[in-house]
Amino acid sequence: MIGFEDLCFNCAVVLRPDKMRGDSLLNAASDNAMNGYQRIHRLLEGKPVDRIPVVPIFMAWSAEYAGFTYRRFQLDHRVMAECVLRTQERFGFDQISVISDPYRETHDYGARIEYRDHGVGKMIEPLMASPADVRKLRRMKIEETTRMLDRAKGVEPLARARKGELSILGWLEGPMAEFATLCTTEAALVFALTEPEFFNDACAVIVDNAIEWGRAQIEAGADMIGVGDAAASLLSPQLYRDLVLPWEKKLFSAIHAAGAPVRLHICGNVNHIVEDMAASGADAIDVDWMVDLPRTRRLIGPDIALFGQFDPSAVLRWGTPQAVAAHARKNIAEGGAKFGLMPGCEVPPQTPEANIEAFCPCEGCLIADALARPH
Ligand SMILES: [Zn+2]
Repeated sequence: MIGFEDLCFNCAVVLRPDKMRGDSLLNAASDNAMNGYQRIHRLLEGKPVDRIPVVPIFMAWSAEYAGFTYRRFQLDHRVMAECVLRTQERFGFDQISVISDPYRETHDYGARIEYRDHGVGKMIEPLMASPADVRKLRRMKIEETTRMLDRAKGVEPLARARKGELSILGWLEGPMAEFATLCTTEAALVFALTEPEFFNDACAVIVDNAIEWGRAQIEAGADMIGVGDAAASLLSPQLYRDLVLPWEKKLFSAIHAAGAPVRLHICGNVNHIVEDMAASGADAIDVDWMVDLPRTRRLIGPDIALFGQFDPSAVLRWGTPQAVAAHARKNIAEGGAKFGLMPGCEVPPQTPEANIEAFCPCEGCLIADALARPH
């Protein structure tokens, strides 16, 4: 099942299945237990599942846990894969991913980024400062890229180790997020209002490259693609609808055509656009802690999966296991039938392990009964 020989190139500990703590407890309880892959894909298809999928996003926390700097996690897919697999084995959640940082595409478009040992990288200079700079964007061949190719390669060891047992999530930036990363968020918001042609010209290239990259990750073994489009939460509903949504629709339908469902992740408060997000064609929508979950479910109906949503900072990082459990139970009660449990965004570095255990299907879980409620 596990092919670690090629992964633990820098790790003294060789992981063995008998040392793993995460996978078993909740999943072995019944005869018709499903694995994470089946659980998530059945949920998306509207079929019954044995328990609620648990789908947290780990990045810097995993690097820390496995003893690597975040810098190495971002820049070397072998390190990333090892960190991801070890974190999943510890907590038993249902989906593993190659999400790492927002700069992979931006790096390959030619922006200079300073990667730090800890914390997200720093853009030294934005690539686009005016509409004329759109000519700097070019259509890329994934095999000729650097950091985009590295992520596609990162899917391969995850697939070799757990394909068919866990869902494997590829990742890329959505049109608004990538435009904002290329221009800075502040400039992107101004351009979205005043230079819509610039936005559309840029997205014509951004989305074509994203489609190719999504395909490359699916070919490498990803069975779902996550799309982070964070800056979209800062737009008015009208701007989101007129500018961003058509590009998201184009991207998502191409990912569908390549054989994978889409998980749309827009951090922050999306109460004002969540109904439009549901029109994007995404199969699952992540909702952060400030989003009104019952209202969202009412607005978007029962057919789209919602993944969320307790506060990753106040509750998960700084709260107690009991507080995590209480918030997770509330989320499960409010999320409807098609619901996956996660903190609203990334698990913050230095989050206590007991707080993560509290909501994950592993030893120390405080919500096993709620996760297993009939679906
Ligand atoms: Zn987020």
